[in-house]
Amino acid sequence: MDKTENKVKIVTRFAPSPTGYMHVGGVRTALYAWLFTRKHNGKMILRIEDTDKEREVPGSITHIIEALRWAGIDWDEGPDIGGPNAPYLQSERLDSYKKYAQVLVEKGLAYADPYSEEELESFRKQAEDDKRPFLYRNHRPENPPIWDGSMPLRLKIVNPQKSKWHDLARGDLEAGPEALDDFILIKSDGYPTYNFAHIIDDLEMEVTHIFRADEFISSTPKFLALYEALEIQRPEFVTLPPIMGPDGKKKLGKRDGAKDLLDYRIEGYLPEAIVNFLALIGWHPGGNDEIFSMQELKDLFTIDKIHKSGGNFNDVKLNWMNREHMLKLSHEEYKKNLETFMPEHLSTLDTYASRIDSVCAIVRDRLEYFKQIQEMYDEGGLEYFFVAPLYDADILMCSEKMRKGKDLTRESLAKILATCKLELEKLPKETGEFIEGGEVKWNKESVKNALWPIAELEGRGIVLWGIRVALSGKEKSPDPFILAETIGKDETLARIQRAETFLKEKLVLS
Ligand code: GLU
Repeated sequence: MDKTENKVKIVTRFAPSPTGYMHVGGVRTALYAWLFTRKHNGKMILRIEDTDKEREVPGSITHIIEALRWAGIDWDEGPDIGGPNAPYLQSERLDSYKKYAQVLVEKGLAYADPYSEEELESFRKQAEDDKRPFLYRNHRPENPPIWDGSMPLRLKIVNPQKSKWHDLARGDLEAGPEALDDFILIKSDGYPTYNFAHIIDDLEMEVTHIFRADEFISSTPKFLALYEALEIQRPEFVTLPPIMGPDGKKKLGKRDGAKDLLDYRIEGYLPEAIVNFLALIGWHPGGNDEIFSMQELKDLFTIDKIHKSGGNFNDVKLNWMNREHMLKLSHEEYKKNLETFMPEHLSTLDTYASRIDSVCAIVRDRLEYFKQIQEMYDEGGLEYFFVAPLYDADILMCSEKMRKGKDLTRESLAKILATCKLELEKLPKETGEFIEGGEVKWNKESVKNALWPIAELEGRGIVLWGIRVALSGKEKSPDPFILAETIGKDETLARIQRAETFLKEKLVLS
């Protein structure tokens, strides 16, 4: 049990900056906050931290919202849905920041920074030359000008001391007084810094728990100084472990495949798989299970099971998990997903509607994400389900090894194919399920039963290979019985006939 559970109404927030994309690390932060909030019937807020206008990328807010919603993460207040704490864009909350800045000025705890960039630079250089760390507070002006908004406003660190604090995920943490310096609250462009703005917002929005990445640990002494200066109670901190690259040596970067969340949608990953995967980088409920639904994650989530050290982002594991979640889909759901990735021209073919269900069932345990159906197509492993293939004589004739000492010429293979065709002609045309002892239908079992005696007589390798290639044209494809069932009786016979003619014509030509 988390110590903080159920004492107060839980309020969390996810506070991304609109800098262009929705990094998987950010999604995991949002997810942990969401799991915790929903588990405890709390309230989640989406707040956009857009005070760094230089880094802002147009369209990001819409993108962030779309990505989070795709992952199944929702919120109770936010820029798209409004709420009692609106506005939810920091750039629209400047009055609040000014109000609290003024409070600090009046208390004598914040002052205008009169120095130019050049002056600050010379202080920095001086410190470097003297081989001591640069601290702004050593240069604090004795009589700062009145703050009129044209100069940065800094917090006055009156008594820099060692900071100690408790993090619900990390335990007890501390930092020396050197971590504290007079830092900027409001920049000269009128926008607040992250350090200041988020504290005011969390206060006004009554946030109880801050879930955030570990890069903010080093700034925590500053946050603590501000809570103290404002005489406010701080929310609980829940710091997540870093997401490491696949080798576990450094933080996940774009180069290791740190994609935008919506790239996974483009590739045909399931949101529930991504969520499952991200949840388990840095948290596990205990036991050996790895596959969890969103509901299960929500039921199982507790802060005390968040790991302290980083977890690896491993594509192989992600693909495995995605496949597991794909296998949980009903046939109809699977098909719906698969069809959005089908090469378009295939879906316009006459053969498409009657065969797509079987194709779906065949690829079901092969694909790790839906876009792989296009790779299958590119590798020649899909078209033959819908279109009769072209042949290569060398592929139709199986290898010496498979012949097991039997002679095979094009002519003899053509004859074998003809015999197979005769046997298959005897089967009914209607395709249907195989029922032991029941009425015979055209399906993989009846096709196998019809061909097996010929395979026993002429050699399994030769017959099964020959029929399979007659149906697919490829060295690799599903077994001939599945192929025959999928394309139906007429098409099976037509393809065997074409392969037979092809072999004979080649004989005449060569
Ligand atoms: N705006 C910060 C970021 O995007 C969020 C930090 C926080 O959650 O307080 O990294």
